[in-house]
Amino acid sequence: MTDSPEAPQSPLTPLPEDWQRALAVVAHPDDLEYGCAAAVATWTDAGKEVSYLLATRGEAGIDTLDPAVCGPLREREQRASAAVVGVSAVEFLDHRDGVVEYGIALRRDIAAAIRRHRPQLVVTLNHRDTWGGTVWNTPDHVAVGRAALDAVADAGNRWIFPELREAGLEPWDGVRWVAVAGTDAPTHAVDATEGLERGVRSLLEHRTYIEVLTEEDPESYCRSFLTGFAESLAPRFGGRPAVAFELFGR
Ligand SMILES: [Zn+2]
Repeated sequence: MTDSPEAPQSPLTPLPEDWQRALAVVAHPDDLEYGCAAAVATWTDAGKEVSYLLATRGEAGIDTLDPAVCGPLREREQRASAAVVGVSAVEFLDHRDGVVEYGIALRRDIAAAIRRHRPQLVVTLNHRDTWGGTVWNTPDHVAVGRAALDAVADAGNRWIFPELREAGLEPWDGVRWVAVAGTDAPTHAVDATEGLERGVRSLLEHRTYIEVLTEEDPESYCRSFLTGFAESLAPRFGGRPAVAFELFGR
C-alpha cells in the first residue's frame, strides 16, 4: 500500500532500526524539536549516535532581536535542546538565515559533514513546496531538505567535490536511507511513547523563540503541540503516538 494525500489513513511502517549512526540536517534551530526530537530520544536510548547539522543559527528568527544577538542565543538554546535527547554533536554551517540558497556550496557543506560523520541514516525536514495543501513551506527548509537528499550521493562519489578528498574527507557511500520529517506523505514512523516527554523538554529549551511565538505558557504550548501531533498519527501506527517520516531508500 502506498501513502498519498488521497489515502491519509494508510498504515505507517516502523522505520528501520538496523543502523548505528544518524546525521540530522536542517535549516534552523528548533526544526528538529518540532517533532523529530522524540524519535531522537528513542534512538539515543537504544545506543545509537545522532549528530545535528544546522545550516544557519536561526539569527533572523525573532523580530525583536538583532541577528548579532539572536544567533548566539539560538545556538545556545539549540545545544541545550540537543543535550536533552542525548545529542552532543551540534554543528553550524553559517549559511544566512532566511536566504539559504540551494546549490553547489550547500551540497558541498552537507556532503563534507556526511563524510565526517559517516551515517547510515540521514534525517531532514520537509523539502517540498508546502506542508500539505496550501500551507507554504519556507525557502530555507526546501533548500536544505533538497540539498541533504542530494548530498548523500555527493558524499559517496570521489569525483564530486575533489577538494573534500584533498582536505582528507574520503567518500562515504554508506547512507542507506534519508528520512524526511514534516511531509504530508509519510511512509514510516518511530514509536514516540518513550521519547515524547523529552521531546517536549527539548522544544522547551527554545524558550526565547517560543515566548515570542505564543502568549500561551511555554510548557503547555510545547506539550499540547507535540502530544497532539504524535497522537494524531496513532491510528496509523497500531495506536501508539508516533513521529512520522517519508523514507527515501538508496
Ligand atoms: Zn525552520
